[in-house]
Parts: sequence; structure tokens; C-alpha cells
Amino acid sequence: MPQFQFLNRPVFSPTSCVLCGATDVPVIDTGVRRDVIGHIYLCCQPDITNPNTGCFEQMAHVLGWVPPHVHQETLDVIANANEENENLATELANAEVPLVINEGDLKHAFEAFLSEHVQAAKPARKPRAAE
Ligand SMILES: [Zn+2]
Repeated sequence: MPQFQFLNRPVFSPTSCVLCGATDVPVIDTGVRRDVIGHIYLCCQPDITNPNTGCFEQMAHVLGWVPPHVHQETLDVIANANEENENLATELANAEVPLVINEGDLKHAFEAFLSEHVQAAKPARKPRAAE
């Protein structure tokens, strides 16, 4: 089993990423060495503010992994949503909900509803047949 190691730059031949050939870049040393190739390095970009990604990040992306800055942004969104949820829950718990409908208003609203909707739902009368 390879022992992966982060290096600021490859140190052994061929001193480049085995996939893209990038040199003098941060790499993951796979710990694997092949006689024909030499050390097998994969380039990477540990600087989360750098939008350029290395082969390692691209492979991780294929697996559905997100870069650290995206992960942190997601955690921030969740933290803000949780805080807003707590604030709204507190606001709701402290709210005084006024009772705006009394029995008379409710009866009047119900009658108005029936008048409007029941009248509209009645089928039209058929005209009387001529005698
Ligand atoms: Zn590469």
C-alpha cells in the first residue's frame, strides 16, 4: 500500500506529475516508484484561494469531492441558516398572535363564502320547452 505524502515540489526523477507533466508544483508523492518512470507524483493545489486545480483535485472532483473553500462556504451557509432559524424561532416564541376573528366575523365570512361560491356552483337552469 502506498504511503501518500504531500510535497511542495517533486524531488526525485522525473520531478513531474505523472499525468500532466507539471513541474515545480505541489504534488502528492504516491510512494510508488517504477523503474521505467521513476517516482509517481500527482500535482495538486493546496492553496484554497487558487482557482487552478491540479490532477489530484480533478480526480477528487470526479468522485464528487468538493474543494476546501467550497466546503467552508457550505459550512458558513449552514451556520448562517442555523442562526437565522434560531432567531426566527425565538421571534415566533415571543410573538403575540392577535385573534382577529370573533364568532360574528367568522359567521359573516362563512355566509359570504357560501353566497359567492355556492351560487356560482349551481347549474344554470334549462330554458323551458316551448308549449
Ligand atoms: Zn498533474
